[in-house]
Amino acid sequence: MNEKLHLKIDGMHCESCEKIITAELSEIAGIADIKINAADGSGELSAPEEVSSETITQAITRAGYIGVVVSRTREQMPQTTLDAFEKKVVSPMIGAQEAVIAKAGMTPSEKKENQVYLALSGMHCSSCAGLIERGLKKVSGVSAVNVNFAAEKARVVFDASQTTVEELIRAVEKSGYKARLAVSGDAEAERKEREKGIRVYWKKFVCGLVLSLPMLYFMLLDFFWFLPGRVAMQFIIGAGFYKGMWSSLRMKTFNMDSLIAIGTSTAFFYSLWQFASYVAETGSVVGLNGEKIPEIYFETAAFLITFVILGKWLEAKTKGSTSDAIKKLMGLKAKTARVSKNGVVADVPIDQVIVGDIIVVRPGEKIPVDGTVLKGQSSVDESMITGESIPVEKNPGATVIGATINKHGSFEFTATKVGSETTLAQIIRIVEEAQGSKAPIQAFADRISAYFVPVVIFLAIATFLMWYLAFGASLAFSLMAFTAVIVIACPCALGLATPTAIMVGTGKGAEHGILIKGGEPLEAACKVKAIVFDKTGTLTKGRPEVTDVVSATMADEEKIVSIAASLEKLSEHPLAEAIVKYAKKESIPLVEADSFRAIPGHGVQGAQNGITYYLGNRRMITDVVGLSTDALLKIERKIRKLEESGKTVMILASPQEILGLIAVADTIKETTVEAVRALQDRHIKVFMITGDNRRTADAIARQAGIKNVLAEVLPEDKAEKIKKMQKTGIKVAMVGDGINDAPALAQADLGIAMGSGTDVAMETGGIIIIKNDLRDVLTAINLSRETMGKIKQNMFFALFYNVLGIPIAARLFVGIGLVLKPELAGLAMALSSVSVVSNSLFLKRFKPGKRNWLSMVAPFAMGVFFTIIFLVFARLSKMG
Ligand code: ADP
Ligand code: MG
Repeated sequence: MNEKLHLKIDGMHCESCEKIITAELSEIAGIADIKINAADGSGELSAPEEVSSETITQAITRAGYIGVVVSRTREQMPQTTLDAFEKKVVSPMIGAQEAVIAKAGMTPSEKKENQVYLALSGMHCSSCAGLIERGLKKVSGVSAVNVNFAAEKARVVFDASQTTVEELIRAVEKSGYKARLAVSGDAEAERKEREKGIRVYWKKFVCGLVLSLPMLYFMLLDFFWFLPGRVAMQFIIGAGFYKGMWSSLRMKTFNMDSLIAIGTSTAFFYSLWQFASYVAETGSVVGLNGEKIPEIYFETAAFLITFVILGKWLEAKTKGSTSDAIKKLMGLKAKTARVSKNGVVADVPIDQVIVGDIIVVRPGEKIPVDGTVLKGQSSVDESMITGESIPVEKNPGATVIGATINKHGSFEFTATKVGSETTLAQIIRIVEEAQGSKAPIQAFADRISAYFVPVVIFLAIATFLMWYLAFGASLAFSLMAFTAVIVIACPCALGLATPTAIMVGTGKGAEHGILIKGGEPLEAACKVKAIVFDKTGTLTKGRPEVTDVVSATMADEEKIVSIAASLEKLSEHPLAEAIVKYAKKESIPLVEADSFRAIPGHGVQGAQNGITYYLGNRRMITDVVGLSTDALLKIERKIRKLEESGKTVMILASPQEILGLIAVADTIKETTVEAVRALQDRHIKVFMITGDNRRTADAIARQAGIKNVLAEVLPEDKAEKIKKMQKTGIKVAMVGDGINDAPALAQADLGIAMGSGTDVAMETGGIIIIKNDLRDVLTAINLSRETMGKIKQNMFFALFYNVLGIPIAARLFVGIGLVLKPELAGLAMALSSVSVVSNSLFLKRFKPGKRNWLSMVAPFAMGVFFTIIFLVFARLSKMG
């Protein structure tokens, strides 16, 4: 497996220095992706494990510069390779061999697909989102588009060889809106844009009010002199609606703007016509005598525009706070770091900190970037990132996370991740992507929205015809019914139902160290009926310790450990670490091993002094070494005894015989039992899956309170087991550390990666739990359920207003005194959007382990409140 190396190089001054070093480094076999940067004296490359850091620094010296390797990390497994990895595995044994080969030859997949975020402006309603989506999809090379009306962002996946970002922006502009490339974390610009939009609505509202209020007083007597004001109201303050209608017409559809434009125009032009006929008829200079002109509805059009704008303003204001969480996260970023260079400590802007810098942290200060503690000691409040409220002790060697707060001690650390690589930056990116994503349930809302507008126009016309032709009502009466229906039926609130809840829900998750990667995992989490936990590192601490060493031959225990540890120092498995650590603790010398090979789910092998040794489980001994089961039998009783106490036993063998045993124990996490029980209480079936043997697995499962155990499962078969469970028709979640569980995480309906902040965990899984606490699995499920609940409530209410409002607006209840004037219909509609957004905001009160009563009661209270508002409006309309 390749490793990523970060370098620091002194003495470079220009581009040619970069070239010289690159040339020298590329001489080393296996080195790839060399990136040298003279500007900041840094470098990056990927190298096979076998290439020592020494070899690399020597090459730099040969080139005439001084370099050091500041960090060496295993490269992430890209998802596509994992898929290939999964597919390659056919029969267990051959599969394992091939898997090793597949792993070794892995190269990061080439990215042909590009993904960008566009910040949008000029949207007035959710159908605008649909228009932009369609506009973007028409661009050739675009494979996926998702426009989030609430976040005012578009996520576009496109083939860079076919189109450009400029072209995408142009496509948005062609649909009648504005777009610019959104930069992750560009909070300031977005906030400004948003606030500008809010201010425009406010200004328009005030102007609208100033222009329409006089109409209230003079609505019976109409002055000629007021006509210009009326025209201004309709075509200047209300210009946005015409513009919106125009852009939707060009896309051959109707949107909400069209509805308002049609509604107000009807009232306006009808009034104008009445006005003109009056002038023609009487020939008088209108209004000077204060006479009454019948059937004039200018004030209806004017107030309708004013109210809808008021609603937009309110909506924009409340919508803004659905993204509070992300703003909060962005606000966590440190501005400067105290960097120590050659004994001089200086404050450096955060963007100039590079990997390898030594950073000094004093008591009470914010830790600027991610890193590893060099010296000193302290405790750190990591709650803002992990959600863990208890401060964490930090000693040399411990990792620290940027944006967390140092308590009382002080320490120095080496920066390992800076800029966009830090944990915080990754979290922000994940939350941003999640908030821009769509939940499958939204497809339902989108479908309704798409049909709603044409259906509404049809209904409105039917209303008009019914009154005017069938019942012989006056033209004015019929037209007002038509207008009211057009206005009340806008599907605006429906479009806000899903995105606002997702934004608040995912933001809330991030606050508790739970990253929900979008609408899809959120929805999946609600449906989960079974959860499969990986054993090592998930249920257990994943820090096994050697407890027993047994020799089966003349060799002493020390020799057994020496051989085993010399092999395991080349492995990344937690079991391997335990053995190496033990050897170190006991000061047992290690030797060079070559021809090393790890066989997933079996063990490791390698040669020392010309002899090949094998260390692994029974399968390893029989299938790989090829020893007979008789050889095992002799030692079987010993192995069993160790296994029954929950220990994992590894067998050391030469090609001829079994040399000895090493047993390790891994304890379960303190919170495992509680978490498992809480899930079972919620009627979720809990399973354990492990590659470990049946007896050890059973012993651990007993401790954890788990009854369903899947043991001796090869890594590549874990996904297969999940698939089998899914075949029974239940939704399955898999919880793992995301490293060798990735295929299983991907196979499950919901993959939950328990992170210790590793990069790989960030890549896989639909939900990431930053803190290593299993109780967060339940919290994630609870939060998802609550968020989905909100979405459903929102959808219900959005439709409820329409269903309640349309018949009243159509004047079907005129007999019992219920009529809805068009302008009040407009106000009711605007309020319905506001109420949907507010309902989502109640999610902010979510607390793990507590019921969010207010949030549960809110929709009912709001439902009652709005029904009353409707009825009051209806009465008001009657009187007017
Ligand atoms: P888990 O499901 O606990 O993550 P794995 O699938 O990684 O387990 O490994 C299953 C079994 O394979 C281990 O219990 C051990 O017996 C054996 N094994 C895997 N890797 C190693 C190794 N590096 N050294 C020794 N034994 C190993
Ligand atoms: Mg594992």
